[in-house]
Amino acid sequence: MRISRETRPTSPPTVHPNGVSPNGVAHPLGVAAAVAPVSRGLLDNRHLLAFARSRLWPAILAYPTLVVFGYILVALLVGPGAASANLGTGLTWVLWWPLIPLAMFATGRLWCAICPFGTLIDLVQRVAGLGRPVPPFLKKYGIWIIDATFLGITWADHAFGIVESPRGSGYLLGLLVTASVVSAVVFERRAWCRYLCFLGGLSGNYSRASGLQLRATPEICRSCTVQYCYKGNGNVAGCPIFEVPRAMTSMANCNLCANCIKSCPNGSIRLLWRKPTSELWFIAKPKLSEAFLAVAIVGIVLVQNITMLSFWEPLMATLGGWLFGSRVAAFTAVFLVAMALPFGLVLAAARYSHGERRERLFENFARFGYAVIPLDLAGHLAHNLFHLLAESGTLVYNAIGLVGVYTTGPAGVLPTPTIQALQFGLLALGIGGSLFTAWKIAGRTPSGFGPARGLIPHIVVLALFGAVNVYLFTLPMAHRV
Ligand code: SF4
Ligand code: SF4
Repeated sequence: MRISRETRPTSPPTVHPNGVSPNGVAHPLGVAAAVAPVSRGLLDNRHLLAFARSRLWPAILAYPTLVVFGYILVALLVGPGAASANLGTGLTWVLWWPLIPLAMFATGRLWCAICPFGTLIDLVQRVAGLGRPVPPFLKKYGIWIIDATFLGITWADHAFGIVESPRGSGYLLGLLVTASVVSAVVFERRAWCRYLCFLGGLSGNYSRASGLQLRATPEICRSCTVQYCYKGNGNVAGCPIFEVPRAMTSMANCNLCANCIKSCPNGSIRLLWRKPTSELWFIAKPKLSEAFLAVAIVGIVLVQNITMLSFWEPLMATLGGWLFGSRVAAFTAVFLVAMALPFGLVLAAARYSHGERRERLFENFARFGYAVIPLDLAGHLAHNLFHLLAESGTLVYNAIGLVGVYTTGPAGVLPTPTIQALQFGLLALGIGGSLFTAWKIAGRTPSGFGPARGLIPHIVVLALFGAVNVYLFTLPMAHRV
């Protein structure tokens, strides 16, 4: 049954959380009265449920974040030219960038619900959105565009010193704002977040490892005829990331905006804890593009780490001398090697593993590529923990400087040995998580092979990635700002 706009309720009706009204009568929107009460997980807490259903979420965080972002953009473009004196640089690369993987692990893609790009998209669409459907090309290849953008930004950062330059960071953010606004004008919903944003791709991958999941209740959705969760109900917009909650099996594309919690008339949506990384253990349709990003991040973390080590500048000078004196060419050479190594190793593991498991080479690569994600997350976090804990003092001094009080002091908030101990702890968790995930993946294939089938080559490669990371974190790192 299709419900016309006029007959849609203007606000979600008050019903029992499982779709049955308090007097025991079935809800008129197609849910059988016989549905047994089902726990809604965290949403059993009536205060949290009321907050999720209210207009306060996510606006209460989204708009302040947009204001802070506006300040950062201005500070980067017109503030002090030195990174160490620019509060915008510190807030972006010393505070936000290190905290973002932690937030993704703890809360999935929740950041995307309050992200300034997303808020800007929503605002632009209210006044100038053409609402065109996303073309099939973008749906099919969007994640490859995200992969390429992520690699391109990482390359450009080091080739042209974007992070070290407030103006460079400002131009990068300006470029991303422009691209997201164009997407907002042309396409419906948050096509940018789902198909084009590199941070969305990163958070999609990391969110798979998180311990939080949003799910609909199949018994309720089965007889639902309205699907306001996807389409919106005239009062609340549909899912901005094009998810259909009743069919969701992943947190990769849910930003916990709560639109579906607000619009579902039958109280079907649940918010549940799950075992961290458990989503990675059995992905029904592994995608090469997503596994590619996971493996690429191994190379990206490798690049991020080696560019901060003491041998980096002499290495650049020597390589630059060989490559016509060009630092860009020297970095590009290192970048290509750093990217090719993890791909070559995972491909080699897949080469030895796929025959045993009687699956195609790239199917094996994609399936086990997801096992790298816990290590990616740990490496990313451990690397940025250094920036957060060894450099965030400069943030305080720069913030105080805004009111005309100029002071300085130590940049670090914890001694280096403590930071290193935390880094090794994170790496141990990441390595353990990746090895365990590979073991789970090997044991749970549709073809039902035994748990060790084709596992060993991937275990060897993951252990090697872990060992390289551990070694790199034993070396002293240079500061970013
Ligand atoms: S979650 Fe969606 S499909 Fe399920 S009952 Fe609610 S509106 Fe219907
Ligand atoms: S599934 Fe629900 S909470 Fe997740 S992005 Fe879509 S509407 Fe928001």
